[in-house]
Amino acid sequence: MKMRSTSYLIVGGGLTADSACRGIRERDPDGSILVVGDEPHPPYLRPPLSKALWKGDDESTIWRGTEELGVELRLGRRVVTLDLDAHTVTDDGGESYSFERLLLATGGRPRLLPFGGEQVVYFRTLDDYRQLRPLADGGARFCVIGGGFIGSEIAAALALDNCPVTMVFPESGICARIFPEELSTALNDYYRSHGVDVLTGVSVTAIERHGAGTQVTLGYGRPLEADVVVAGIGIEPNTELATDAGLPVANGIVVDVYGRVGGREDVFAAGDVARFPVPALGAEMRAEHEDHAKSHGRLVGANMAGAGERYDHLPFFYSDLFDLGYEAVGELDARLNTLIDWTGFEGEGTITYLDGERRPRGVLLWNRFGQLDAARELIRAREPVAQG
Ligand code: NAP
Repeated sequence: MKMRSTSYLIVGGGLTADSACRGIRERDPDGSILVVGDEPHPPYLRPPLSKALWKGDDESTIWRGTEELGVELRLGRRVVTLDLDAHTVTDDGGESYSFERLLLATGGRPRLLPFGGEQVVYFRTLDDYRQLRPLADGGARFCVIGGGFIGSEIAAALALDNCPVTMVFPESGICARIFPEELSTALNDYYRSHGVDVLTGVSVTAIERHGAGTQVTLGYGRPLEADVVVAGIGIEPNTELATDAGLPVANGIVVDVYGRVGGREDVFAAGDVARFPVPALGAEMRAEHEDHAKSHGRLVGANMAGAGERYDHLPFFYSDLFDLGYEAVGELDARLNTLIDWTGFEGEGTITYLDGERRPRGVLLWNRFGQLDAARELIRAREPVAQG
């Protein structure tokens, strides 16, 4: 079989890949770009799948139009081997491609429960949305496992669609990993007031088919009946290609401020899968959010085409939880000390996350919008904040 050659090869077909194509095109209008992605769809926005589509937006709003950039898309194919010396990859259909520059934008895959198999929908993709939506519109009873981003957003979306929803997670409150306890536990009550049965501090020990539905066994033995079980219990970065090729991996593919991997000029990584330096925090992190996929993808794409730009952007993330919403930037870790300055849970305000010297590391803008740049300045200044 004849090997396909391309100037830029992007492995992964998500938002990061789309953004990288745009970054390449800023510098190189004509170079050949090939995107190989394992989903059957061209790049699309994921956030609407658990937010705006449930509030009336049309499915057509998710598409990015990557194909209009003069990019070849090879969809429904997973790259399975990478040979750095030969500058080639091979996909699961046995097709090989050679490249001049490679971007690993492989993202992450849902973490799985050790039981339940096909009975569980791990909500992440457009096909997951298309599977769930008619069931929800038909009034199915849902059990949502996990109280993080996916769990909190999809439970709200399903409840807004008038479905009976039970949330189950091991922590004491919704988004307890990122929110201070008083906010996280207030969210439990808020969800309950919107009809969601919130079961905190509970793990699931078995999931089995039961008649036409599913039986979920909770840690303390109580069985829970549901028609559909949805889980969002985190993702694992898809690092295997990099590991097998001997590239540096440590909870993500390790990149420098330009997105280069292992000090090479021909291999890059970006988006959810990349572990990148954050100069403003003096740390390395991975970020699994839309703004990072867009901004890191664009910059690393431009760097593949020779831009030489440093990534010093502090990516933000946001969420909608029924009528409440927030934007956040920096490190939101519930274990840090926080300074809470708000008019209350259903009001608005700012929660600042502080290190041991009371320097801001993260800012949560609760029901407050358009203030991200000021928040970034606060983090970058690294000035200790006076006792509240
Ligand atoms: P997540 O936000 O990391 O939350 C996973 C939650 O599941 C955590 O609370 C975790 O608890 C819990 N969990 C872990 N193992 C469990 C188990 N066996 N049973 C029950 N709960 C368990 O991940 P996610 O909600 O699955 O989201 C997936 C990805 O999509 C993330 O990368 C997220 O950033 C991204 N996303 C982002 C947004 C946004 O930016 N608004 C929205 C949707 C999705 P522990 O902390 O105790 O492990």
